Amino acid sequence: IKFDELGLRSEIVRAVTEMGFEEASPIQAQAIPAALTGIDIIGQAQTGTGKTAAFGIPVLQKIDPSNKHIQAIVLCPTRELAIQVADEIRKLCRYTHGIKLLPVYGGQDIVKQIRSLKGGIQIVIGTPGRVMDHMRRHTIKTEHVHTVVLDEADEMLDMGFREDIETILEETPESRQTLLFSATMPKEIMAIAKKYQKNAKLVKV
Ligand code: AMP
Repeated sequence: IKFDELGLRSEIVRAVTEMGFEEASPIQAQAIPAALTGIDIIGQAQTGTGKTAAFGIPVLQKIDPSNKHIQAIVLCPTRELAIQVADEIRKLCRYTHGIKLLPVYGGQDIVKQIRSLKGGIQIVIGTPGRVMDHMRRHTIKTEHVHTVVLDEADEMLDMGFREDIETILEETPESRQTLLFSATMPKEIMAIAKKYQKNAKLVKV
């Protein structure tokens, strides 16, 4: 599948082309059209398969640039992954005006993060502990969140983020779309999917 066949904003197609993507990777070919319909997704995919764009593209397509509230939260297990995902999404939205994203993770000056969060961020990419911290401080508000992504969900559970993830999911609107990506699908992941997703489509590579 080619990216210009997916009904995406032309700015996204332009960015993807510039990034050197000629065709959707297998996980993208399955996940992007499904996610664009608004349904929940369970994506089983390793790093290197193009999973970041598999959720990043549908997230971007859904962001309303005129709404300056947080609309999507992407949860990642580590600071390194949060930065990497933010860099990839930033490239994907290079030509889309009015979209701002911010990586937030523990160990980084929270006062600086709070200042940045006040600047009209629409996509937060962060580690669960720090995202929870901001939710408690009301510096991340969730009422406009329409999409939550769990990236490397198995890693997040291994790192002890289960409770934070569940709290974040519970405190975002029930009408949200939930995109869950994981390299492995142990029963703890399936339990989260069952509890927090609705009729999720399983895509696998
Ligand atoms: P990921 O699995 O998201 O970590 O992506 C691995 C690498 O593949 C990243 O450098 C992406 O920019 C790149 N990539 C993602 N999708 C495609 C695609 N459709 N065609 C070529 N490269 C891609």
